Amino acid sequence: MVSKFLRVRCADCENIQIVFGNASSVVNCIVCGRTLVEPRGGRAEIRTQILEVL
Ligand SMILES: [Zn+2]
Repeated sequence: MVSKFLRVRCADCENIQIVFGNASSVVNCIVCGRTLVEPRGGRAEIRTQILEVL
């Protein structure tokens, strides 16, 4: 993925959250706890809908 900040929407609760697209640790939704970003082989895999690249 890209080394940028991304605006994503949680697929479960529709919470909108800013995440780093190159995160090295799991990022969970702050509302429901769903995994939004998962590190995968040195880069991050976005596991939900990306609204915008910031
Ligand atoms: Zn959520």
